[in-house]
Amino acid sequence: EGAAIVIDGKAVAKNIRDEITIEVSRMKESIGVIPGLAVILVGDRKDSATYVRNKKKACDSVGIKSFEVCLPEDSSEEEVLKSVSGFNDDPSVHGILVQLPLPSHMDEQNILNAVSIEKDVDGFHPLNIGRLAMRGREPLFVPCTPKGCIELLHRYNIEIKGKRAVVIGRSNIVGMPAALLLQREDATVSIIHSRTKNPEEITREADIIIAAVGQPNMVRGSWIKPGAVIIDVGINPVEDSSAARGYRLVGDICYEEASKVASAITPVPGGVGPMTIAMLLSNTLTSAKRIHNFQ
Ligand code: NDP
Repeated sequence: EGAAIVIDGKAVAKNIRDEITIEVSRMKESIGVIPGLAVILVGDRKDSATYVRNKKKACDSVGIKSFEVCLPEDSSEEEVLKSVSGFNDDPSVHGILVQLPLPSHMDEQNILNAVSIEKDVDGFHPLNIGRLAMRGREPLFVPCTPKGCIELLHRYNIEIKGKRAVVIGRSNIVGMPAALLLQREDATVSIIHSRTKNPEEITREADIIIAAVGQPNMVRGSWIKPGAVIIDVGINPVEDSSAARGYRLVGDICYEEASKVASAITPVPGGVGPMTIAMLLSNTLTSAKRIHNFQ
């Protein structure tokens, strides 16, 4: 007791990026194609700009070509749709990502619908999500953050089949697809959301918990069954006068308590975060391979 394995997302993501680097150069040498990722950023949210910058850096580090369009906050939906369709038609682009959230005057659904499903590396097109939910159907892409969570379980040889899994959060980008993926892996899945009563009674039954809530340290040690595996997606800034920036990042799980009860746990930062970007690169490579029929 008291010694959960720390699931090192940073190290796993590094391994995956190394694998991708090799594949990108093999592809370039064999058929002269460089995988390309296009990112569309609308408005000037600081956090979104940071995410976009990090995605570009990650592309550079593995040899994926990146394309970027930044549109002003007051752009019209038509202008965004024009960028999307330009990238849909551009043969050097294999993945298209619209950075969310979009300004409130835009219809997110319309814009995500416009992304070619062959280039939907975020996996947010309703056809890809629909296929993810259906038995016997295969999505072309799976959303990056939940895919990264499952990849961590796989790389640490944690069995999912037959296990009780609980996902906390049901957002379109994390919680909901995470629950669908766990179910596809033959777990029995419960979903906790803001209207769930006594969530701790449900989490205590779980062999695997994925938390994607946005509430710092919400899940306490007493919520966790001894030996459970904990994947913490949450990234929450909390005030910390001793930190250089005046804040530090914590997850949705109270790490200090949980690591004494769980058998394995992801830290924040350094757990799921780096995996999200690794999965985006992986989806872009997969897309380029599929489009060019390259194995
Ligand atoms: P959303 O705000 O879109 O969704 C939060 C979900 O949590 C909702 O389903 C909400 O329920 C539920 N929720 C909120 N409060 C409670 C509560 N007290 N009890 C139970 N459920 C609750 O967030 P996201 O899914 O986009 O992100 C979740 C967290 O993950 C954030 O901290 C975000 O920063 C982080 N994140 C990390 C990523 C990574 O790469 N590591 C990527 C994306 C997000 P309801 O549906 O009822 O409103």
